[in-house]
Amino acid sequence: MLTLAVASLSGGQGKTTAALFLGRKLAQLGYPTLLIDADPQHNLTTYLGLELKPNEPMLLEFIKQSVELQESIYPVTGEDNLFLIPADDQLDGVVDYLASSGVGATLLKHRLEPLTSTFKICVIDSPPQRSQICLTVLGAADGLVIPAEASLKGYGSLVRTLDLLKSMQNVRATQAQVLGVIPFRDRWIGNNQSTESRLAVEAMTEEVGKTLMLPSIRESERYKQAINRRQTLTDLGYSDLEYPFSLLIESLVQQLGEP
Ligand code: ATP
Ligand code: MG
Repeated sequence: MLTLAVASLSGGQGKTTAALFLGRKLAQLGYPTLLIDADPQHNLTTYLGLELKPNEPMLLEFIKQSVELQESIYPVTGEDNLFLIPADDQLDGVVDYLASSGVGATLLKHRLEPLTSTFKICVIDSPPQRSQICLTVLGAADGLVIPAEASLKGYGSLVRTLDLLKSMQNVRATQAQVLGVIPFRDRWIGNNQSTESRLAVEAMTEEVGKTLMLPSIRESERYKQAINRRQTLTDLGYSDLEYPFSLLIESLVQQLGEP
């Protein structure tokens, strides 16, 4: 199982959007795919139409091992090959557990080990804060996808995320490598990119180098529409908007082999 973390240390950077579209696409290609909602805001869980009742198992119980493993893994309704370990706002409670465990950064990785032959790919949506949850997500990841708004704020988010990764790599708390950076809400008017977007993307490119820069997610209501209607962008007639994910998916498919 290849584990991808989608992380970026600011709010509203496109993490949940990217995790959702990547996970769905990989499942549609036939790979048994596990999505993990690691954000107490639980947007990914909501987007996938799952409403947990109080005390239904989710990532908290999965990490604490307080239920049988499979009880916190839910099939996503209407999607083949797609499963979710969801979250709700009680997930905040895992922070103390991770901190007091003494091995917080590597705990999720250990918990995922029994699933490595069940799923081909795992995509984890991270919270925006540099919390214990974020550390355990990065610790579990083989690859890191960093969406970052095409703005000064987004550039700052990218830099903070890279700093955190480096500090974890330095103490061998993660083996994750950056797979790509996706500029988010890149603003274009006709054929002209806004100055703010252009400057931000240039600064990001300088930071990570050209080869790690993926095509932008352009500012568009279509992504939200596709999420709300639980459709793909192709279903909506905007297959070109899937382009930001297609290069990444092509290289993942090469790594993963046949589904
Ligand atoms: P958080 O840190 O709060 O979890 P996030 O990094 O997960 O945020 P998203 O939730 O993916 O970010 O996106 C932020 C908002 O932008 C959402 O309301 C989403 O619907 C909206 N959005 C998604 N794609 C686009 C787009 N291409 N253009 C404009 N807005 C978008
Ligand atoms: Mg999110």
